[in-house]
Amino acid sequence: MRKIIIAMDGHSSCGKSTMAKTLAKKIGYTYIDTGAMYRAVTLFALRKGFIRDNSIDQESLRSELPGIEISFGHDDEGKQFTMLNGENVEREIRGMEVSSHVSPISAIPFVREAMVEQQRAMGSKGAVIMDGRDIGTTVFPNAQLKIFVTASDEIRARRRYDELVSKGENPVYEDVLKNVRERDYIDSHRAVSPLRKADDAIVLDNSHMTYDEQDQWLMEQYLKAVQQ
Ligand code: C5P
Repeated sequence: MRKIIIAMDGHSSCGKSTMAKTLAKKIGYTYIDTGAMYRAVTLFALRKGFIRDNSIDQESLRSELPGIEISFGHDDEGKQFTMLNGENVEREIRGMEVSSHVSPISAIPFVREAMVEQQRAMGSKGAVIMDGRDIGTTVFPNAQLKIFVTASDEIRARRRYDELVSKGENPVYEDVLKNVRERDYIDSHRAVSPLRKADDAIVLDNSHMTYDEQDQWLMEQYLKAVQQ
């Protein structure tokens, strides 16, 4: 079967990564979580003190960006985690602090340029599922299968809230909902590669779908795409 590139874009916390990981496992593709890459840059900037009172020291970030190495590892159960300069930062990048600063960091053109270059290199051999906001529009505009996932704000916030609770955090639902909406707004309104559906993407609203239903739907889209 031919090896393709699958681009999965969509709104925050709509379950893209869960679906993408499941399909990648079933069909033996590499899964790349581009949101984790922007989150890792954000964590780096926070740790270095480049983000203060909601303003970003862009010059310092620009000069240190070439020294940031982001990669992915797998634990014994095959679960993927994100590494920042050799350190496993998976847990830290999913917390509310990183979540509340990641969209302004992702809107910076030189940050996007650096991440997009790495993402293209990671996907250059095909057989890859990449999830993010601009994969079908900017990173791989020629991807053979493009999916755009969405769900209602409240359902997405509830899923994210449950995920944080399951990780031992103590979030406030209203804060999570506000963060989801704010990220969508910033991601959709930035000047460079804003979040939008590629013209040839297939839309999936999974608000009222079970995991099994969405996995089956995605498998059908994949089979159609490889047979074309
Ligand atoms: O996918 P996730 O919610 O982890 O992404 C976190 C943030 O990273 C998004 O809200 C967005 O600001 C940014 N992002 C992006 N482009 C991508 C992937 C993520 O700007 N391709």
